[in-house]
Amino acid sequence: MYDDLYDVIVIGAGPAGLTAATMLSRSMRSTLVVSGPRRRNSPASSVSNVPYADGAAPADIYRKMEEDAGRYGATILWDEVISARAYEDHVVVEGRGHPGLRGRRLLLATGRVDVLPAWLPDGVWGRTAFDCPYCHTYEHSGGTFVCVGTGDETLKMAALSRQFAKRMTVLVGDPSASRGRLARLLTRHGVEVLSDEVVRASADPAGGVVLETAHGRTLDADTLLLGDVARPYRKLAEELDLDLSAEGFPETSLYGMTSNPLVYSAGNVEGSSYFMWTGAASSGINAARAICEDLAFASELLDDWD
Ligand SMILES: Cc1cc2nc3c(=O)[nH]c(=O)nc-3n(C[C@H](O)[C@H](O)[C@H](O)COP(=O)(O)OP(=O)(O)OC[C@H]3O[C@@H](n4cnc5c(N)ncnc54)[C@H](O)[C@@H]3O)c2cc1C
Repeated sequence: MYDDLYDVIVIGAGPAGLTAATMLSRSMRSTLVVSGPRRRNSPASSVSNVPYADGAAPADIYRKMEEDAGRYGATILWDEVISARAYEDHVVVEGRGHPGLRGRRLLLATGRVDVLPAWLPDGVWGRTAFDCPYCHTYEHSGGTFVCVGTGDETLKMAALSRQFAKRMTVLVGDPSASRGRLARLLTRHGVEVLSDEVVRASADPAGGVVLETAHGRTLDADTLLLGDVARPYRKLAEELDLDLSAEGFPETSLYGMTSNPLVYSAGNVEGSSYFMWTGAASSGINAARAICEDLAFASELLDDWD
């Protein structure tokens, strides 16, 4: 079966990849999804800001999405992709355990790489610690918030989240950011802004985190907001020689077209700030539509006209 030439290989079974896979298979396109099991929000106990699924467990949503994609004919292969190359009219994807997967088009839906600070205690990410002011802050309203990061992005996250906090402290590593305009505005609104860094942290039994800083402060956080966590997933994009933005995300059109005509991208892999679950799913639909039109018009119908 793996000798087949699929119409589309989708790398990544998150909201972007599974939404695209469902639409592609419903369009009668043979679709292979190759993915690891861990989506960005897998550590969280529930989702918010997702239409019709508010409060549902991520695992339940993904199970239903996998069933839907499978019902229309998509095949899901649970494997890590270690390499992807584009040739003139097809792509070859190498799974760790499944070499030589071939497709006419490739959709990159690999999300981002979340790089967590070494001091973050196990089990805290997605429960007490987040990198977004929209996803889980409401559920943590009324607690003590600590925002930790290097510079202005962290201060922006603090500005977007301060209404949820009984008390908020921001630790920024960059001293100039801690003295900048945003820092001064936050201070005026009762937020403590420090140029400091976390050196140690431990989980407290009530579900919070106790932080010790380089300047000798001890801070109790009911909720931690971390800046600078999500990084571009560069490996496959670089191997495919795609044009990348200065930050390292693939340059794409609204419909996910990259600089290589056989390769599309969708979801967090594209890099927009706070590009959330539904945005990722929507971009999967957009990319699937563009691929359908590409396969129908650019190759099949035009071939007949030659
Ligand atoms: C802790 C946390 C909680 C969140 N909560 C919410 C929320 O409540 N509401 C909301 O709207 N948004 C939330 N988000 C954001 C949301 O999870 C993301 O926007 C969304 O998951 C992005 O979808 P995606 O399909 O682009 O990528 P992902 O969901 O990350 O899926 C990418 C998939 O690609 C796979 N993959 C990556 N590399 C490879 C490879 N080399 N080979 C094979 N497979 C690969 C991964 O294993 C994964 O299955 C949260 C994010 C985090 C970090």
